[in-house]
Amino acid sequence: MKKIGVLTSGGDAPGMNAAIRAVVRKAIYHNMEVYGVKYGFQGLIEGNIEKMELGSVGDIIQRGGTKLYSARCDEFKTEEGQLKGIDQLNKFGIEGLVVIGGDGSFMGAKKLTEKGYPCIGVPGTIDNDIPGTDFTIGFDTALNTIIEAIDKIRDTATSHERTYVVEVMGRDAGDLALWAGLADGAESVLIPEKPDEFHEVIERLKRGHDRGKKHSIIIVAEGVGSGVEFGQRIKEATNLETRVTVLGHTQRGGSPTATDRVLASRLGAFAVDLIIEGKAGRVVGIERNQLVDHDILEVLNQKHTVDFDMYRLSKELSI
Ligand code: ATP
Repeated sequence: MKKIGVLTSGGDAPGMNAAIRAVVRKAIYHNMEVYGVKYGFQGLIEGNIEKMELGSVGDIIQRGGTKLYSARCDEFKTEEGQLKGIDQLNKFGIEGLVVIGGDGSFMGAKKLTEKGYPCIGVPGTIDNDIPGTDFTIGFDTALNTIIEAIDKIRDTATSHERTYVVEVMGRDAGDLALWAGLADGAESVLIPEKPDEFHEVIERLKRGHDRGKKHSIIIVAEGVGSGVEFGQRIKEATNLETRVTVLGHTQRGGSPTATDRVLASRLGAFAVDLIIEGKAGRVVGIERNQLVDHDILEVLNQKHTVDFDMYRLSKELSI
């Protein structure tokens, strides 16, 4: 294969730029031409494609967001949209594609692979919700953003002796909430994988209050419900002074951590290795610090779940 493309799709994640850089540099190292497709599958349909050189990816390893921009594109879910994308691939002579994104993006990659355009998926999403990899690109940075915010909230929570509810991202996956809870010593963590544990939160708050505890941090993953609503329910159930912080899109931005930059560099380069080997329809990942690849369909058919041992530990430590 002599010409490949790279795109970022779905929600952006810190570290996507490091992954783009790795794909471009690794491909050029192997004497291939690389084309950057802007705005994900939308840009593919529109032919928003440009050749990338070694210098195109200079000075981006430390930047959040994605230099190639991202978009959601419903048209690409249709056969017609996919054929329009293939027309553009043919026009530019692009034979294979590295798709950096989440599971929705991998569905698009699967469709292109089935039509004879080999794609490799690279998991880039802060949610850490892709099966077949221990970590996704962006998770570590988002986690550290949350920790920094909660450390600050803890200072004011202590000073004012209040209960704080912090809503973090995670529609289907509780990883960000759980890891943040453990890292920050939160009193309770509510995750989508265990949606019915509100009564435990109240019991723990009451227990803590009875033994003289004056402030608490409760982390709620957005997939369980609104932090604002949980704040109201907690106040009604305990009569404790309660405040709510919704961290929102701050979690998506920022310079990627060293861990994310290294992960993105390894996964991006590995995706190019797979293309060179003639593999198609695979998703790369990292398991026990080893680079791995799995069939896209296998990844899409599995359901990610949090580590329940860690969940139990978070409860044991916030007894
Ligand atoms: P995130 O986890 O951040 O939401 P994602 O990759 O799952 O990222 P989606 O919005 O689900 O984000 O998907 C991104 C894009 O992938 C869609 O806008 C669409 O262009 C493409 N896509 C999703 N599902 C399909 C499908 N069934 N067939 C073809 N393309 C798809």
